[in-house]
Amino acid sequence: MTPGTTHHFTSLAWLAAALILLSQVALADTEVNLYSARKEALIKPLLDRFTDETGIQVNLVTGKADALLQRLKSEGANSPADLLLTVDAGNLHRAKTAGITQAVQSETLDKAIPATYRDPEGHWYGLSLRARPILYAKERVDPADLSTYEALADDAWQGRICIRSSSNIYNQSLVASMIAADGVESTETWARAIVANMARPPQGGDRDQIKAAAAGQCDIAIANTYYLSGMLKSDDPGELEPAKKMAVFWPNQPGDGDGRGTHVNVSGAAMTAAASNKDAAVKLMEFLVNPEAQAWYAETNGEYPVRTGIEQSPVLAEWGEFQADDLSLAKLGELNAAAVRLMDRAGWR
Ligand code: FE
Repeated sequence: MTPGTTHHFTSLAWLAAALILLSQVALADTEVNLYSARKEALIKPLLDRFTDETGIQVNLVTGKADALLQRLKSEGANSPADLLLTVDAGNLHRAKTAGITQAVQSETLDKAIPATYRDPEGHWYGLSLRARPILYAKERVDPADLSTYEALADDAWQGRICIRSSSNIYNQSLVASMIAADGVESTETWARAIVANMARPPQGGDRDQIKAAAAGQCDIAIANTYYLSGMLKSDDPGELEPAKKMAVFWPNQPGDGDGRGTHVNVSGAAMTAAASNKDAAVKLMEFLVNPEAQAWYAETNGEYPVRTGIEQSPVLAEWGEFQADDLSLAKLGELNAAAVRLMDRAGWR
């Protein structure tokens, strides 16, 4: 071998090494594309923190849950999205069933998130917990008269209940949780009684039920607690004053009925089937369950952390501890169609 060929060989080896290094740099994700059903203000500061820590850019697209799901379906394999952030296990399950998600394996996620708050196959992971208890008008309801969701079927509540439409996923999930606990037949009987006990045909969102109860149109509102905490934190008297008239009752606690616990749900994340920045997507999900992120996210959204051992905000702490239904939330998705049909049969608009 002449010195010339050795030199030639050495530079080839260097070139190869350099190419391998370059390809590794190119393989490390520098960005992640996020479709979020959560409003920008409720997530952006956390995403910025993630970018500061990892150098990974987050491209955020926000929209309504149904619209984002539809968009992901129509974009299919060409979707730029890596991650879907949406509310309600029912929606997360729909995304999975539509084939637009893929399974993720992560020990960090499995350790941080209780098994009931994530898909058994890893297609979605809960990131925050929301509770849907009974809210009552303090002036007109004695909490001693409240016990379970089931007991709201009693004649004593005739014309006194405000609850939104059956087209709303939160109510579909609540009814799905009741099917899981009580069966279809008994839940249908319950739903008919609830319809009979409604103060008015369903209209508006959760905040509107709270306001209607505060205004005396009804005595009970079924609503997610973060709406009430949001109203309590508001500078607008139109939000704050009604909220002050309402209180939280945690139904189905031990000693009441089957004591299965109050209905809860999650907001969560799912990796899209089309994801091209998989590593970054997993990193972002893992970031969102670290203790500081959990505390900030739950506090900002008026929700509860999915991770245990995180300190609660003062408003939530004031409402006290409660036992949550320990039903695997994947069931809410599986029973969604049955819940929708049942509410329809019961005449729940
Ligand atoms: Fe909501």
